[in-house]
Amino acid sequence: MSRLVYEQKLKFLTLGDTAVGKTSLVLRFSDDEFEKNILPTIGIDFKVRTLIFQEKRVRIQVWDTAGQEKFKNITSAYYRGAQGIILTYSVSNRKSYEHVDYWIKNIENCSDCEIETILVANKTDLEKQREVSKEEGLKLANKYSIPYIETSAKSGKNVEEAFLKLAKKVLSKK
Ligand code: GDP
Ligand code: MG
Repeated sequence: MSRLVYEQKLKFLTLGDTAVGKTSLVLRFSDDEFEKNILPTIGIDFKVRTLIFQEKRVRIQVWDTAGQEKFKNITSAYYRGAQGIILTYSVSNRKSYEHVDYWIKNIENCSDCEIETILVANKTDLEKQREVSKEEGLKLANKYSIPYIETSAKSGKNVEEAFLKLAKKVLSKK
């Protein structure tokens, strides 16, 4: 197979409380867009972005929840075939941070899944409304031995880095 047409395909999923910015992170990553008035129940089935990473062509497909997370209605079927999870909370919403334990347990329900997870602390542009410190975020990530990154889908800060950090973790296992 020619080096040029060879493509590594990755499937990622979003997870986390409603309104933490999951859809916004995906849109920032795929289309470099941000929508201020996006509705939390508006989902995008999935988005794709292909990029060159570590000298390889990597096609990242990101699936997004469309409000069903609000009712904690994520079944193990959602995780099937995925290699990576973008688990997000908002630094301006302490509850969404406290619910990370619930989401991690939910991932573990999928017994035959082999999934890498990254903990993403979003909305870091809202400094004055911050309810969760970086130290607390790191502590939680350490508890589960997963990577941690602070992002803002609004400014774009670290969004690509978050997806690539997860891609790196997944690809290093292959
Ligand atoms: P989801 O329910 O987790 O998919 O969250 P959305 O992506 O729908 O975002 C919920 C709300 O938060 C929307 O009004 C977004 O515009 C806003 N939002 C998302 N990310 C950020 C961010 O990084 N900073 C700020 N200030 N607002 C954000
Ligand atoms: Mg959404």
